[in-house]
Amino acid sequence: MYSVNRFELYNPVKVVYGKGEFERSNEIFGISNVLVVCDPYVSTSDYFKKAMSRYKSVFVFDKILPNPPCEMVDEIIDIVNESEKKGLKFEGVIGIGGGSTLDTTKAVSALLLSDGKLSEYLEGKKKFEKRLPLMLIPTTSGTGSEVTNVGVYTLNGIKKPMTSPMFWADIALIDPVLTYSMPRRVAATTGLDALTHAIESYWATSTQPFTEGLALRATKMILESFRATIDGEEWARDEMSIAANIAGIAFSQTRTTAAHAISFPITSFYNVEHGLACALTLPSLIRWTYEHIPQKMDELVVYLNFKDINDLAVRIEELIEYAGFSLHLRDYGVKEDDLERIASVSMEARIIDLTPGKPQYEDVLEFLRRIY
Ligand code: NAD
Repeated sequence: MYSVNRFELYNPVKVVYGKGEFERSNEIFGISNVLVVCDPYVSTSDYFKKAMSRYKSVFVFDKILPNPPCEMVDEIIDIVNESEKKGLKFEGVIGIGGGSTLDTTKAVSALLLSDGKLSEYLEGKKKFEKRLPLMLIPTTSGTGSEVTNVGVYTLNGIKKPMTSPMFWADIALIDPVLTYSMPRRVAATTGLDALTHAIESYWATSTQPFTEGLALRATKMILESFRATIDGEEWARDEMSIAANIAGIAFSQTRTTAAHAISFPITSFYNVEHGLACALTLPSLIRWTYEHIPQKMDELVVYLNFKDINDLAVRIEELIEYAGFSLHLRDYGVKEDDLERIASVSMEARIIDLTPGKPQYEDVLEFLRRIY
């Protein structure tokens, strides 16, 4: 039992889920002239060609870099503006790909109707006030970006999240078939991202009754399907697509906490994939959080059918290892002397304050030392 004084619930994104629904994305979006931002392997696929043949006109940009740099987004705007001068016409934007592509597409849909460079918005000097109609179609099952108002971009070599009311899409189209081609490693890292979203949303100090239910359900679905997802079983990829979306809706309200804050420097400095970087501190944080909200964490343990909190933390360590990843930072090229820098950059992400017990710099350094 806990009491809550006030909360808000707002997520304006229409979610459409269905196997094979991508083929009729034109009917779902209701727009015939589109700009499509997608991953390179998507634009050459047969399913893409088939679905796109149902639009009147399609302009494709498919050169997306992971952890999207601000400069890449600015370049897309220049390319599209040039093409518009030559007669290109479109009324809506579609993003098809992993979180990097979806975040890029959000920024493109807003920047096309705004002045300046993305970095000015990321640094809070300007605010987006409009965007083009936007549909997001994930091909990974992890980020939940299709249902959040968040975009994560790299500026001067460091990843930084931003929120904007313009980043809520009109439609999130979840067709799990698009995730069947994920290689094992992508399935594993994105599944770990979804797991971290669900658990962090559950314990965030910004939690509220609606999102708790979503976070619990998503955590259970992810733990039950994780191994089979990375082994490529289709039923599990379907399950994970739904679970990642549910977790996305949960954290779109609560935001994430320390595991995400600490992941940003680990990804920026050592190129560790986002979901993996998030999950590395998750077991330590589960144990830390238990000290601050034992009753709530016990409810999670009971719902998930674990013996105790340590049993849950150990299961997550086993899943990381099952996916083929080390639990130790030293195996990712991190030097012991770097831990202080990682800790201080982690503290710059304000979401860290949403962690129960509000870890301070010394605590973060301790989490990092434990997994060094
Ligand atoms: P990603 O988008 O960087 O993609 C990883 C790789 O997988 C790429 O090479 C991509 O081409 C490939 N890929 C994607 N789908 C595939 C498929 N179906 N088949 C074969 N290959 C495929 O990875 P991601 O984990 O989806 O996204 C990570 C990014 O999302 C990070 O920048 C992270 O910070 C951001 N993120 C954003 C939010 C948000 O709310 N906006 C939330 C979490 C993470």
